[in-house]
Amino acid sequence: MAITYLKTADPRPAAENNDIRDIVAIMLANIEQGGEAAVQEYAQKLDGWTGEIVLSDEARRAACARVPEDLKADIRFAQANIQRFAEAQKATMGECEIEVMPGLIAGQKQIPVSSAGCYVPGGRYSHIASALMTITTAKVAGVPHITAVSPTRPDIGIPDAIVFAMDLCRADLILNLGGVQGIAAMTKGLFGGKPADILVGPGNSYVAEAKRMLFGEVGIDMFAGPTDSLVIADHTASAETVAWDLVSQAEHGIDSPVWLVSTDRTLATDVIARASSAIDSLPEPNRTAARTAWADRAEVILCDTREEAAEVSDRYAPEHLQVQAEDLDWWLNRLTAYGSLFLGKETTVAFGDKTSGPNHVLPTSGAARYTGGLSVHKFTKTVTWQRCNAAASHELALRTARISRVEGMEGHARAAELRLLHQPT
Ligand code: NAD
Repeated sequence: MAITYLKTADPRPAAENNDIRDIVAIMLANIEQGGEAAVQEYAQKLDGWTGEIVLSDEARRAACARVPEDLKADIRFAQANIQRFAEAQKATMGECEIEVMPGLIAGQKQIPVSSAGCYVPGGRYSHIASALMTITTAKVAGVPHITAVSPTRPDIGIPDAIVFAMDLCRADLILNLGGVQGIAAMTKGLFGGKPADILVGPGNSYVAEAKRMLFGEVGIDMFAGPTDSLVIADHTASAETVAWDLVSQAEHGIDSPVWLVSTDRTLATDVIARASSAIDSLPEPNRTAARTAWADRAEVILCDTREEAAEVSDRYAPEHLQVQAEDLDWWLNRLTAYGSLFLGKETTVAFGDKTSGPNHVLPTSGAARYTGGLSVHKFTKTVTWQRCNAAASHELALRTARISRVEGMEGHARAAELRLLHQPT
């Protein structure tokens, strides 16, 4: 394969990850021991929050009332799209029943988990859309109890617009908590919540590490690293549009990788030049975040053919993948590894992040090789059942006993053979 790197990234130092692991392990151990009091201490120490942890109905109503009407309309618009998409997903979830052999009926059911914990990130930005994406999807899946948490601002609490979004999606319990303490509180069912069966939602490295460490005690949607994006662009793409699509994703944080894969050298070098001026035009602190991400994490890769570009993209398995090139159907059919795909210059990851409907909680760091993003399926258990009549049971018992004995599993053989006693031969 003939590919050329016009820009490369620096590998992340491993030591940083180890530090985060140690910090999160200590925090979780302290919360395990100290319960709600330990959670409150961390809320104060890390987020300067000394107010109530449970958001009262009155505070909920007051926060919603403070949100300007035009913003409410935009949030409702996004929520309706997300709900429509989730409902379409739900309609594709199969239940089935089949006579596997004469007398043996087996089936599959879809059962929602009984409680979900939705993490809405909020350290750097107010991620209104993450509340919509996680809670709406859980609701559509049929989860009966949903707790939502988000970081507080000192003396303010969770920003009003996030509370409005959580309320619109009908979160059952809202906790004024961010970070590891928010994740732990949902897992343990502290402050009046039900212990979560599954934790969902993006977050920073502390949040992701807490979810990873608690996995087993609780289900998780995925282990998420920093958000990442790849744009495939050919000679038909606009360098200005591609540059902004990359810069807008680098804005997420200093660790967010962005990649351009292009079959056109002129376009690729033009994008590199325009990205710098696009970054310079951002306000702070976004400018510094995007500049650092661009300097340390961005790569620009030139390929000879579109097939090579597709191979490179599949190898990266990006969280977000944009294609701004000819023959979009070819790309849709060819590409195999991404969290969410955005086809054509008329769309952008920013739409998917905020308003368009498909979920924005997506696999990062190459996890799109083996999983998709958040969907109603993640909140639902695909379970199976079976029953059989006497004749089917007789045949199953004989064969099961023989296989079990070859495996050395005498208990299984006897349990199977007991069924012979109850049946006519
Ligand atoms: P966050 O809510 O994830 O984290 C904030 C919390 O981190 C705080 O409440 C604090 O308690 C905790 N924290 C901060 N410093 C700490 C320390 N030293 N020790 C222990 N805890 C500490 O918000 P954020 O930091 O802005 O990160 C949001 C992340 O979510 C970003 O990485 C962003 O890219 C990601 N995100 C991803 C998507 C997606 O769909 N992929 C969408 C939105 C956001």
